[in-house]
Formats: sequence, C-alpha cells, structure tokens
Amino acid sequence: MLSVKNLHASVDGKEILRGIDLEVGAGEVHAIMGPNGSGKSTLAYTLAGHPKYIVDSGQVLLDGEDILKMTPDERAKAGIFLAMQYPVEVPGVSMTNFLRTAKTEVDGKAPAIRTWTKELSEAMKRLKMDPKFATRSVNEGFSGGEKKKAEILQLLMLKPALALLDETDSGLDVDAVKTVASGIKAYHNADNALIIITHNAKILEGLQVDYVHVLDDACIVRTGDGSLVNEIIEEGFTALKEDEAK
Ligand code: ADP
Ligand code: MG
Repeated sequence: MLSVKNLHASVDGKEILRGIDLEVGAGEVHAIMGPNGSGKSTLAYTLAGHPKYIVDSGQVLLDGEDILKMTPDERAKAGIFLAMQYPVEVPGVSMTNFLRTAKTEVDGKAPAIRTWTKELSEAMKRLKMDPKFATRSVNEGFSGGEKKKAEILQLLMLKPALALLDETDSGLDVDAVKTVASGIKAYHNADNALIIITHNAKILEGLQVDYVHVLDDACIVRTGDGSLVNEIIEEGFTALKEDEAK
C-alpha cells in the first residue's frame, strides 16, 4: 500500500529525515518508536504533505502512485490520514460541520444524512464523548485527552486507507488510552493500514502489530516484530543502541 524509498527531508535547510525506507501492506499495523526529536512527527508530516518539510530526495508511493507531487488535500483524498500529535483548534467550525465537510471532500460526495448521523453518534459513544462535542468548535477549549479522542473520531468517520497516528496516546489517562485503543481497533480491517507512533504498549493492545521500527537521529535504526515494543519499554533506546553496536 505504502512504499517509502530512501526518503530525505529537511526543514529550514536542516536535514531531519536521512534515508527512510518503509513498506506497509494492506491490513498491517506498524509501530514507530524512538527518542524525542528523532524525526517521528517529521516523518508523519512529510507523508501527509506539510509544506514546511521539503523532500530533498526519495520516493513515496501509495498504491503505486507518487504522492510527493500531491497537495495535502489530494493526499487525503488518496487515502492518507494524520492524527496530529498536537491537534489544532479551529474556532468557529463545529465538529459536525468539519467532519461532514471532510467526509464529503475525501469521498467526492456527501454521505447519506441518516446513516451518517447514526454512525457519528455511535462513534462518539464508543469514544465516550459527550454528544455536546458535536456542536462545539473543532478542538476549541478541548482538554488534551478530548483533542486526541476527536482525532480518533475523525479516523472512525473518514475511514482512510492509511492512518498515521502521532502519539495519540500521549497525555491520556489510563481509561482514555483504552477507549482510544478500542476506537483504533474498530477502525482497523484487512483493507487499511496503521502507522502508530507511540512510546507505550497500551495503545497497541488488541491489535496485531506486524512491525516495529525504531527511529533514531532521522534514520530507522532497527525493525523487528511486535515483541520489540516491550523490549524497548523495558530496556530503553540507549540499551538498544549499545546492543546494536556490539
Ligand atoms: P519527534 O516527533 O521524533 O519527537 P520531530 O520530528 O518533531 O521529533 O523533530 C525532529 C527534529 O527536527 C528535531 O530536532 C526538531 O527540533 C526538528 N524540527 C522539526 N520540525 C522543525 C521545524 N519546523 N523547524 C525547525 N526544526 C524542526
Ligand atoms: Mg513527535
């Protein structure tokens, strides 16, 4: 589904991705872990098409199509979704309006109103969000946890082919992590794929993690199976690096 080859990117002339290779197949779950500042968010932003991140070389194909030439909205229409580490507030735009407009744009047609409304209220119930959030402005005055849930609500309603989740579990209380994880599980099926950037194992619970990639200093330094998550949590990145050096 996604094929990233030798991707180099920079911001303000500073190289912040130095040769990323990543292959993600339909139905797969990939976890990306790595120390703060290693380039995880940069990778997510670069794939989503943030204009600040300049691709210097390399290739990114989504279902064989070169997405690097596409604008962020074209990438969203092609099936890429990014749950941001720090979701932005959009005062004056209600959650329902935002979700419905986004859905209409990515699908190229408006969703049928009755099924849409039912689906929205079910998704909000699953995420334990008060129905009142539907009429509030996007993320405005939401707590950190509520913003993260609002990202997963988008995921459930937009049903993208490829979801990039950037630390959606960071800053959440234990119950909220479980709720968010159940939302991710409800979204995931054999036709879509997930790239989950995280520092914790909880958000991955209930999912079959196919690959774990460790990002360090703008490069993927190690790739392993799901068991690598706990190894990292128990031993840390420094121990991992020392092991590699041996
Ligand atoms: P992570 O998400 O792994 O914590 P980031 O991808 O946010 O790390 O950042 C990687 C590096 O790139 C950091 O050193 C960060 O300061 C730098 N960086 C990211 N975005 C910008 C930017 N817009 N301007 C300057 N430096 C940036
Ligand atoms: Mg980050």
